Amino acid sequence: MPKNPSPKKSAAVDKDIQIVVAGAGGFIGGHLCRYFKDKGFTRIRAVDKKPLSNWYQRTPGVESLCLDLSEEKNCRRAVEGATEIYQLAADMGGMGFIERFRIECLRSVLINTHMIESAYKAGCDRYFYSSSACVYNTDLQKDPKVTALKESDAYPAMSERGYGWEKLISEMFCQEYWAERGMKTFIARFHNAYGPWGTWDGGREKAPAALCRKIIQAIDDKSLAIQIWGDGTRTRSFMYIDDCVKGIDMIAHTDALIATPINLGTSELVTVNQLVSIIEKIAGVKVKREYDLTAPQGVHGRNSDNTFIRKMLGWEPKTPLKDGLAETYAWIKEQFYLRKAGQRTITD
Ligand code: NAD
Repeated sequence: MPKNPSPKKSAAVDKDIQIVVAGAGGFIGGHLCRYFKDKGFTRIRAVDKKPLSNWYQRTPGVESLCLDLSEEKNCRRAVEGATEIYQLAADMGGMGFIERFRIECLRSVLINTHMIESAYKAGCDRYFYSSSACVYNTDLQKDPKVTALKESDAYPAMSERGYGWEKLISEMFCQEYWAERGMKTFIARFHNAYGPWGTWDGGREKAPAALCRKIIQAIDDKSLAIQIWGDGTRTRSFMYIDDCVKGIDMIAHTDALIATPINLGTSELVTVNQLVSIIEKIAGVKVKREYDLTAPQGVHGRNSDNTFIRKMLGWEPKTPLKDGLAETYAWIKEQFYLRKAGQRTITD
């Protein structure tokens, strides 16, 4: 793997190559399929274990396969003839999910071991893996006034139990498939992504979607009160989905980043209370905040150090939180009232 990678031009890509997006029935995978289709790619295969009727987005002209990728034979089928593979399938969710269901999170290692081996056997040219900021050493995240996490802060390792450790070992698979077998792998460590067409209810949603939904609910039932997990002082950064898919594309086509984990997130740090205030402004209300100190909260503070991505790509996710949240709030409101009218929403 490159020791001191330097920025290089993105590789040019033929629009007729076979692209495979795993986890395409979910939030980021659904957007990624649409993104590639809009860019003119003609052969996109979307794969997810959910029944097709439960996929968050279906892009016309994209081949859609319903396969459980924790089984090797399904992985082999999924990647047949693939030139580029984007591996986003995982059993995951927000803090409420990853703190309660560590075994499910760890079992994603089955998907990742079978997918990368199948990709290698299929002769895939580029393999992208969606890692997470949860790989970072939790000892460095005990203070809400965080020092932003840089890529080298994953080691010595003390990742988030369950979910984070699985991501870290799967990153290592990517690094070794390059080192030992010469397959080009790319690893992005996503920091919280949010946006329309994401999980907004049901237990797997993340803070931005959950807080939008709670405020919409509080307006609707006229209580004007919401419950916040924790005391509101925990800090995070949140990346808008358009930046996320653009970043995935750029990272996967930058050869200087082969087998080199890189942060993909914004460095606009906010407390949970500030996040609520932004959503209040969008909604045009003030809500009463009740704090649930027994709820899952995750590490105290986490931010993305973007020095490396700026150096490598001359770019970083930039959508201001208030702009991305305005889009997200409007979309969740639509979903909320669809459900209220007895219609199906993406999380039903
Ligand atoms: P998501 O839950 O919306 O999508 C993941 C998809 O994977 C789901 O549709 C699920 O059905 C599918 N899946 C799970 N197990 C599968 C299996 N065995 N076979 C086939 N499909 C399976 O999640 P997302 O937010 O789109 O995240 C995509 C990737 O990015 C995941 O790997 C996640 O860990 C990573 N990530 C996301 C965030 C974020 O903020 N959303 C942050 C860090 C990392």
